[in-house]
Order: sequence, then C-alpha cells, then structure tokens
Amino acid sequence: MTEGRRNRILIKGGYVLTMNPADWELEVGSVLVEGDIIIDVAPHIEAPDAEVIDATGMVIMPGFVDTHRHTWQSLLRGLYSDTSIIEFLGSLRNRVTANYTAEDAYVANLVGALEAVDAGVTTFIDYSHCIHTPEHADALVRGLQEVGIRAVYAYGYSGSSLVTDPKLKGFRTFEEKVADSRRIAETYLSAENGLLTRGIAITETAIAPFNRTISEIRAANELDATIITHTGAMWGSACTNGVRELRHHGLLHEKQVHVHCCSLEDDDFRMLADAGAKVSIAPETEMGMGMGRPPIRKCIEHGIKPTLSVDVASFNSGDLIGQCRTGLLFQRAMDNDEFLLRGDMPLRMDLKVRDALRWATINGAEACSLGSRIGSLVPGKKADIILVGGLSMNMIPRPDMVGSVVLQANSTNVRTVLVDGRVLKRDGVLVDVDLSRIRELATRAQTALFERVTEGGPMLPPIGHDWLTRMNKVWADNLAESGLPNRWQMV
Ligand SMILES: [Zn+2]
Repeated sequence: MTEGRRNRILIKGGYVLTMNPADWELEVGSVLVEGDIIIDVAPHIEAPDAEVIDATGMVIMPGFVDTHRHTWQSLLRGLYSDTSIIEFLGSLRNRVTANYTAEDAYVANLVGALEAVDAGVTTFIDYSHCIHTPEHADALVRGLQEVGIRAVYAYGYSGSSLVTDPKLKGFRTFEEKVADSRRIAETYLSAENGLLTRGIAITETAIAPFNRTISEIRAANELDATIITHTGAMWGSACTNGVRELRHHGLLHEKQVHVHCCSLEDDDFRMLADAGAKVSIAPETEMGMGMGRPPIRKCIEHGIKPTLSVDVASFNSGDLIGQCRTGLLFQRAMDNDEFLLRGDMPLRMDLKVRDALRWATINGAEACSLGSRIGSLVPGKKADIILVGGLSMNMIPRPDMVGSVVLQANSTNVRTVLVDGRVLKRDGVLVDVDLSRIRELATRAQTALFERVTEGGPMLPPIGHDWLTRMNKVWADNLAESGLPNRWQMV
C-alpha cells in the first residue's frame, strides 16, 4: 500500500512548524527528506534532484502521535456513541470481544491504521487486547504492516480468557501468552529501528490478582517493551487505581503509559512523575463516557507532559485534531471557571494552540520511547511529516496558520502524509488504497461479527449497579488473594 520510495523529497514553500523549541517556526520554509530521514529544514533549500511536493498555503509539521488506540475496535465504529463506560465494558468485554476472529482482527487493524494515516496520525500505540490465539496476534500485526504506519504494538495480556476446553484454540496458561508475546516481539517488533516497536498492554490493576500484575510487568520489562495500561479510569473502586501499590513494589518506571488517570489523587500523580511515567489523555471518551475530567492541568502541575489519544473509534473520532481541540477547550473552560465563579473575567488564555500540538506530537513521541526519532522536524529524525491546509473553505484565508490546524481543520485538510519517508497520502488521497475493497471487507466482517454476538443475546446487555457491586467483589477478592489491603472498602 505504499508507493515506491523516492530517494529525495523536497517539501517546499509551506509554513514550517518544527515543534522543536530551538527553531519553532518558519513562515515560509522547506524540508528535505532523503530516504527515511529528514536531512534539512530551512527557509530555502536547493535540491534539483529531489521530487518536489508543493506546500504553498499549508502547514508542514510532524505527524501526530496517538498514545493509546484500540485499533482492533475499528469494526465497531460509532456503536457505543451513547453508552457509559460501564455499559461499554459490559458489552465489549462480556459480549463482543470473544466473538472476534483472527480475520476480524486483521480487517479492523487495517481499517484503523488507514483511518489514522488519513488523519495525519503517523504513529500510535496500538493497545491490542483482543488476542485470543497466536493467529489473532499475527493478523493484528499484519494489518499495521500493510498500511505502513509507525506503531508501538502493545500486545495485550488482558482482554481474553484462558481456555480450558482442549478442543478450543487459545492460551491455556498465562505463561503461554507470555511466550507468544515474546514470539511476536522477536518476529515483528524491532527493539531498535523498525516501524513497529515493542509494547505490552498489561491487565488493569485489580482486574487480576496483584501477583499477576507483578508477573505481567516483569515479563514486559524482559522484552524492554513500553508498558501501557488503563489507570485511574474508575471511581470508588480498586479497579485501575493501583498506582500506590505499583510504587510500593517498585514497578513504576519511565517506559510506562498510564491512560486516563481521571480518578487519581495528587499523591498518585507525584508517584508517576517521580518514576518518569507518562500519561495518555483521551478527552472525548473521558468526558463522553463518564470517566471524569481529562487531567491536562493535573499533569502540567506535576511536571508530567500531557499526551493525547483517540482510544476507540467505537465511540469517537479517529483523529488527534479533535482530541487537541476538545482537550484544549475543556482545560480552558476549567481554568476560566476559577475567574468566573468569583465574578471575575479571565484576561488571557493560559493554554495555547501550540501547547495542544505539543501534546499531540513531541510529547507523544517521548511517551512512545521514540522521542529521539520522531515528534519534531529536526535533521536526523525520521521523516514522519504531514501537510495541513489546502484549497477548502475552512482553510481560507488563514491569518494564523497554526491556530487553524487546531481549531478549524479536520482529516480532509490533512493533504499529504509521509511515514518513514514514504508518501502514504498525497493531495488528499490515500496512496494505492482501494477504498471500495476496504469498505467491502470491513462491512462483511462487521455484519458477520454482529450476527455472532447477537445470537447469544443483545449487543448491549442491561447493566445495573448490581454489576458494579459484583465487579467490586471480584476486585476485592483479587486484592485479598494478593495480601494487599483494600483501600477502597468497596464491599
Ligand atoms: Zn483505552
């Protein structure tokens, strides 16, 4: 799905937003790419042998970096638009996930990665917790490979049950799953320089006995993988709220991405900051599903650089422009409230559009452990570059080129996308992608999947507070089994 590599590409005459503090912006500038590497960023570059991409009227900027996307849910687009996080989990984890075939997983990752590239997301952490068999893992990776996106492939230890029936395929022990994650890492995921790098999605704290959490983190550390998990996504229970326990056991570290963190307390943020751990904020799902306030200000107050994420296309949009906009405006509203509620007016906005773009580019790159390779337009870095603008009514005229990216643009304004020096989208069109074929694949897979799910009952099973009470009992038992005190007194 990629066109043949040109040796040198000159992206010429655009507004260059480097995201590099040393040379932030060029009002008119060019970027020269050789192979997969940026070799020059300057007001004017002579490169007569290079293929030229005209960026007049467009912003040239690093590709967006999404620090948390369950790409495998791309077959469920919009299914959970009106659900709470509890309804969502009740349907997804109890009903839908188990019905995913390996082919469904492949198609979903193909669709999701294409959607990301189309929106200018050149890197994401694929939080991949739909691995029922080794074939699922191979299929999920294949979907990413065919698109050519850069990704931290976070193999999910969570999300599928161990199999006891000898006639069924699947993992019979946790050790089998760990061995499969090692196979995937060694087969596909370069520890160094490739497009796909190593990640592990561990089971959320208190969903499994804490001893299992310890084993999962140790297994991920042995692979030198970036660890990702949902943290502080639930209120009033132990579930996902184990920062203090992780710290107590010496399990927090800098190659961890803690997602959501809405219910964490100041002490938890301090512990994450002390460890150098990263935080991924998904404003649309957090506000739209009842998880709480996106902790942008909390991160900043504690010296943690915010990063942004799409989370699920089963609920919200698949582009980071939307997350920048939603996150920035939410935090401004919260900041402004401090003035308004005492009968005052804010005179200026503390958070700027450039802050939001930093969250969605260089901060994300650092969270992926890729800060030295991507996230800014700097000579020597990988050529992950997007052009935003073009001849459309929401992009003309543009007194502030950067402001218009955050507060006016959408995926259709992402005109050209390079990943690793390869042009994956050109002049608004995905290169060498047969959209009709992709739609047919996706529709067929989705229809069959939904039929299998609904044969066993409704897609959205009724959920009451008794479900929460039952889950709280499970979480309490998991803590008791580990010998840990139950700080939440849930039952
Ligand atoms: Zn998530």
